[in-house]
Amino acid sequence: MSSPGSRSETIQTIAVIGAGTMGHGIAQVAALAGFKVLLSDVDRESLARGVTAIEGNLVKGIKLGKLTEADRDRTLQHIRGTTNLKECAAADLIIEAAPEKLDLKKDVLRQLESASDHPFIFASNTSSLSITEIASSSKRPEAVIGMHFFNPVHIMRLLEIVVGEKTSTATVDTVTDVGRRIRKEPIVVKDVPGFASSRLGIVLGLEAMRMFEQGVASAEDIDTAMELGYNHPMGPLKLTDLVGLDVRLNIAEYLHRELGSEAFRPPDVLRRMVSEGKLGKKTGQGFYDWSKEDARRAQTS
Ligand code: NAD
Repeated sequence: MSSPGSRSETIQTIAVIGAGTMGHGIAQVAALAGFKVLLSDVDRESLARGVTAIEGNLVKGIKLGKLTEADRDRTLQHIRGTTNLKECAAADLIIEAAPEKLDLKKDVLRQLESASDHPFIFASNTSSLSITEIASSSKRPEAVIGMHFFNPVHIMRLLEIVVGEKTSTATVDTVTDVGRRIRKEPIVVKDVPGFASSRLGIVLGLEAMRMFEQGVASAEDIDTAMELGYNHPMGPLKLTDLVGLDVRLNIAEYLHRELGSEAFRPPDVLRRMVSEGKLGKKTGQGFYDWSKEDARRAQTS
């Protein structure tokens, strides 16, 4: 059933800005659901890596019996890559998954609006930045919203829809419907720092890092405490490796600033590992060594 003010039938083309960890997954689920998808990145190699990752996910899906070869072919046919951001302004819904920097996101939105008068909805996949703040750079803040997906996008079902101060009900209803069409379970939350999910998730992750730093237990044992003791499907340090240590550091710094609580102060170990380029799975090393076979088996996707 569609939401009352939804205009989701007007959404035919979805552009995804940024083909990294999140962007390629969003492009995949949107294309699988039948949307025409334009996947864009400033960096040609990142774009190619994103498309390769989609192909890999689809092959794995077939092996697991979750997808057919026809699903794979249709998904790939629906995705086109570009390094020209302005082309994305012709899409009906633009989902931005560029790095977690407020100025960058505002700048992307401004560039898109100056490229075309097409009345697109702009949805940011930000983990923690204010949607109202991002929308302040827009000529149409009523059409700016958050669509917060979870990693890995093709597996995680939650979609947090974040409503800015000026976001219209029609925009909320439309993206809620699109979320359901791409087989996610949308929840609607107010635009407050950390939304519903990051605020809790980050506190757990940072405390696990402090325990690791203090030698309370090994990374594996800290994770096992949450997996077996609390039934979490994955421990907080392994999850940090999947999310990216740099991404989590950015979010922690932002929440520490905005909420003022010491619970969000980034631990030294996180800063040190990021400065050493140990960003987690994407660089092969984080709290776990992802270049090893048994660590690779530890991932969920
Ligand atoms: P990432 O670093 O893996 O990917 C970002 C991509 O954006 C890179 O490929 C980069 O080349 C590209 N890019 C940089 N500037 C660009 C621009 N101006 N235009 C187009 N592309 C540009 O980052 P990510 O982990 O996919 O995170 C993206 C966003 O999603 C962030 O806002 C992050 O907070 C959010 N997010 C991340 C996770 C996660 O688990 N990694 C989960 C939920 C939300």
